[in-house]
Amino acid sequence: MSSFEADPEVGLTAPAAMELLEGAPVALGGPRGFAVTRTLPNRQRRMVGAWCFLDAYGPHDLDLSDGMRVGPHPHTGLQTVTWLLAGEVLHRDSLGSLQLIRPGQLNIMTAGRGISHSEETPAEHTPVLHGVQLWVALPHAARDLPPAFAHHADLPVITEGGLTTTVLIGSFAGATSPARSHTPLVGAELALTQGAESTLSLRPDFEYALLALDGAATVDDATLKPGPLLYLGSGRETVRVATESPSRLLLLGGEPFEERIVMWWNFVARDHDEIVQMRADWSDGTPRFGEVHGYDGPPLPAPPMPITRLVPRGRIR
Ligand code: MN
Repeated sequence: MSSFEADPEVGLTAPAAMELLEGAPVALGGPRGFAVTRTLPNRQRRMVGAWCFLDAYGPHDLDLSDGMRVGPHPHTGLQTVTWLLAGEVLHRDSLGSLQLIRPGQLNIMTAGRGISHSEETPAEHTPVLHGVQLWVALPHAARDLPPAFAHHADLPVITEGGLTTTVLIGSFAGATSPARSHTPLVGAELALTQGAESTLSLRPDFEYALLALDGAATVDDATLKPGPLLYLGSGRETVRVATESPSRLLLLGGEPFEERIVMWWNFVARDHDEIVQMRADWSDGTPRFGEVHGYDGPPLPAPPMPITRLVPRGRIR
């Protein structure tokens, strides 16, 4: 399956049709848990660049729920990226980080060989929680790095006409985020005012996708509302976005990730046996994942391994 259609006239490539990737509803922490919509990995498309996981949640009314309560759990081989539109999340990790994140700020945790963390709605909080949780797969050269955590409260923000762009990671609209990535990657929030229209410059060597965080938008000729992820493909130089009412979009992109990976529970690995070892290291409480202090609740147990061997997969199913 190719994302290009060759143009026989000029020998160039033209972008393929866009794909609307439907999200799956998931309850974090069981059926009565915190409701999210997961668009990555998707049945048709497991990744966009190195972005391998995308959960969108909210707006949640915190008068009606406990909000986020995700107890200590491990990660390997990936970076976690947290971005909020409303509310607060308190992050704790096994490096001793204790960080409150608010809208406009970025939390990026590099698991490398192993880390554990918890995420919760703090006791003191504003009434609504709304955000996204993403993972970025680490390439072979970086996947065994020592773990690290960074909070970026001062990201580049560019306003041009009715479009305000915040660069979460990578470079976009002439600005570069301080967040560290290990593959050519971009993440940006696009906030559009009522009636705004803009043609975004894209890199033909990147593949891209757009998610509506808030409000609806027109993307080229397609309508995008919160829920599904709109895959734009690669080979594009531009995409046009327009809105009739204020809206916010999340742009994800990157160089297509060509390594085959195994994603299971909270781990990214290269084969079944690595996952077995990671699971055992967490279950046995080895020093690999350290310890999270201060969270009011038990660590999350790893689910049982599937009966069949996990198969490494590429970015396309
Ligand atoms: Mn996590």
